[in-house]
Amino acid sequence: MVSLKLHDTRTRAKEPFEALDAECVRVYTCGPTVYAPQHIGNLRSQLFADLLKRTLLFLGYPVKHVINITDVGHLTDDADAGEDKMEAAAARAGRTAAEIAALYTEQWVRDRERVGCLAPEVLCRATEHIPQQIELVRALERGGFTYRIEDGVYFDTSKFGAYADFARLDLEAQEAGARIGDVEGKRNAADFALWKFPPDGTRRQQEWDSPWGRGFPGWHLECSAMSNEYLGAPFDIHTGGVDHIAVHHTNEVAQSECAFGVHPWVRYWLHGDFLVFDREKMAKSTGNILVLDDLEARGVVPLAYRYFFLQAHYRQQQNFTDEALDAAATGYNRLLVHAARCRDQAAAADPAKLVPWRERFQAALSDDLNAPRAIAVAWDAVRDDALGDPERGALLLEFDAVLGLDLAHAQPKEAATESDPRIDAQLEEREQARKNRDFAAADRIRDELAQQGVTIIDTPEGPRWRRE
Ligand code: AMP
Ligand code: ZN
Repeated sequence: MVSLKLHDTRTRAKEPFEALDAECVRVYTCGPTVYAPQHIGNLRSQLFADLLKRTLLFLGYPVKHVINITDVGHLTDDADAGEDKMEAAAARAGRTAAEIAALYTEQWVRDRERVGCLAPEVLCRATEHIPQQIELVRALERGGFTYRIEDGVYFDTSKFGAYADFARLDLEAQEAGARIGDVEGKRNAADFALWKFPPDGTRRQQEWDSPWGRGFPGWHLECSAMSNEYLGAPFDIHTGGVDHIAVHHTNEVAQSECAFGVHPWVRYWLHGDFLVFDREKMAKSTGNILVLDDLEARGVVPLAYRYFFLQAHYRQQQNFTDEALDAAATGYNRLLVHAARCRDQAAAADPAKLVPWRERFQAALSDDLNAPRAIAVAWDAVRDDALGDPERGALLLEFDAVLGLDLAHAQPKEAATESDPRIDAQLEEREQARKNRDFAAADRIRDELAQQGVTIIDTPEGPRWRRE
């Protein structure tokens, strides 16, 4: 078998993958901050984690995947000043923070599912793990890594000699660039809040008692605390967006290595690049966002967005244009046409003929999850004259374990253009039978048509048919 290589942000190199524990590969993904709708850029980071998970499963590794939901404590400013995004969104909408979190968590779960992402083994919310976060701060306090100021309990980055290593930071420049308005009393510009106190006299919706007083956790804390709860330390793979490297993940590494006494805390760090509009990041803060429903309103099915995602490597920025999306939708539909033609014959495939194709597909994915190459292998199999439809069908079904494009069931949009009054009439008869809930009759007609080589395709515009 080809061995899996993954690009590790920590070493800046493609590394051969070795699981820490043969029983289970432990993967943690930084999830959404649920204060606003999750856009298709956010979904890209989920699709990337899903590609990783599906590849691991395809290569025979059992996986435990943990994703967090940030429903508290993510401030609008990396320097720990500014408002909490959840509280601010709740105030704007006149709703409770819990309502806002529930609304957008639900949207995120649904949209993830619609683009074919497998459910994580554990989905954990920051607000449901406050004791674990407090315990982590206590461990850091015991180790002498913290200090307390009026604003909160802070991590002293000067106590962790390797602080700058992960993201190769220039701390002197950071110190020189420290801004007026940053939190007063911080010892080093890079120090970050572990536990924050609300400003005097204010009462937040989301605050908890702690050994240091009422307050709320800093954002970085939750990922260390919850990954430790469900995966232990060290664990295999941590994923996130490239925007996380310099602050969020740097801080996760610092507090985890100090609290758990492990180095490296995470064996492989994978970061996905952004979805952009003409180089500008799709972001909630700038308002240039599209959600999955917007694509659907334009007639693009959610899985066509997954196909679009697979066309670029996860470490490259992906440019979003209407043309690129439409081209992906057409490509996906064409693939479905072939899958729909071949998949029912898969059982008759000659297993020996599948082997070299499986190897090519695995080789593409094993090269740091090269999805564009994997898609190209699928298309080569569709086109190769040396293969018959049974082999094509078998390969497409097998590849779909990673591609996640529902090649086993999805129907192509394009219906047949053929017209045959006799068949059209039978189709109509079947429709009537279905309307009368006479499913036995409807199935009998479908089988009769199948015997004549006619496949019925159910589309939103009604049933169509195609001759094979
Ligand atoms: P947020 O909800 O803003 O904290 O973002 C959740 C995740 O989405 C993070 O992993 C970000 O890195 C990722 N993300 C945000 N915007 C984009 C984008 N335009 N393209 C890809 N990933 C993004
Ligand atoms: Zn995180």
